[in-house]
Amino acid sequence: MKDNLLDKISPLPFVTSDASSPFVIAGPCSAESLEQTIETARELKSIGISVFRVGLWKPRTLPTSFEGVGIKGIEWLKLVKQETGMQVATEVATREHAKAVLDAGIDVLWIGARTCTNPFAVQEIADAIKGHDEITVLVKNPVNPDLDLWIGTMQRIVNAGVTMIGAILRGFSYYGNNLYRNVPEWQLAIELHRRYPHLPIFCDPSHMGGRRELIAPLSQQAIDMGFDGLFIESHYKPDEALSDKDQQISPKELNSIINSLIMRGKSQSTETLEVLRQQIDACDDELLNILSKRIDVCRLIGAYKKEQGMQVVQTNRYDTILQKSLSQAKQLGLSAEFIKSIMSAIHQESVRQQIEILNNNSDNT
Ligand code: PEP
Ligand code: MN
Repeated sequence: MKDNLLDKISPLPFVTSDASSPFVIAGPCSAESLEQTIETARELKSIGISVFRVGLWKPRTLPTSFEGVGIKGIEWLKLVKQETGMQVATEVATREHAKAVLDAGIDVLWIGARTCTNPFAVQEIADAIKGHDEITVLVKNPVNPDLDLWIGTMQRIVNAGVTMIGAILRGFSYYGNNLYRNVPEWQLAIELHRRYPHLPIFCDPSHMGGRRELIAPLSQQAIDMGFDGLFIESHYKPDEALSDKDQQISPKELNSIINSLIMRGKSQSTETLEVLRQQIDACDDELLNILSKRIDVCRLIGAYKKEQGMQVVQTNRYDTILQKSLSQAKQLGLSAEFIKSIMSAIHQESVRQQIEILNNNSDNT
């Protein structure tokens, strides 16, 4: 099937590009009261934010957590729009949420990470907004690093005739300890951008980091990588927030983070950069040649093992190779994690190649 995202994405009208500061969508994790919603919006407006985000229906991991004020918050959002002139955005997870948002004339809706993993829920939302090309839909990455699932959600939305879409990288779940609440896995956004250069991609450093102090460095990283904007949680009294307290910042703190960020020119290519890029290209050529040479040798070993009736995977040999590589990596200042994952990928490919030889040979007999 033809990839309909490629030719159906339209630009987002509210994204203002400014070489001196990033485009930022901001607002509280949850709407808690009329006062908290409107006061936060006023403060954000005063620091130059033009799109206000807030959650009404909160998809929480535990049912004991604050699950949002629901439909009654719609009126508060309408007031924010009326009073401040900001565009307003909220999360929808069901057909009913989507209908309520459309009826109220909300400008932007977003599909959360948990909902993005569920094609039935996404299709329900797509059906509910069918033909409403006045609305913008932002799609957060699914909780698991599955690029096709993320793209599939966007395809369901464009199939419904809604073409003002954007993606939000908010990081991915993992098991165990990690610096981040959700691991960034920036490479998924890089690949998304490679496939759809016109699709706006935003970064949500709040849900990615899960902590206030990580917002500035993650935002800077996103800017350095050329993201189109940031999606940040901000609350007028962050310490009293009913959800995601640890990652919310006041509009004043947000303003000082925005002012501290260093903007980079999109396509400045200095001579030095060109020279360094040539060196990288040469390294990549060398890497590919050496990998191809290694695979040739590995196939010869495969033929030998077949002849001798040996099994393909010899774990002792792999352990020895890995230990040797790790000690060399240390001396060369390379990260052990990085080398481990490279060696494991190479080993997997070697095993695959040898199994192929084994099967080819048996086909011939
Ligand atoms: C949110 O942005 O408030 C939210 C619930 O985010 P996520 O879907 O990324 O968890
Ligand atoms: Mn939140």
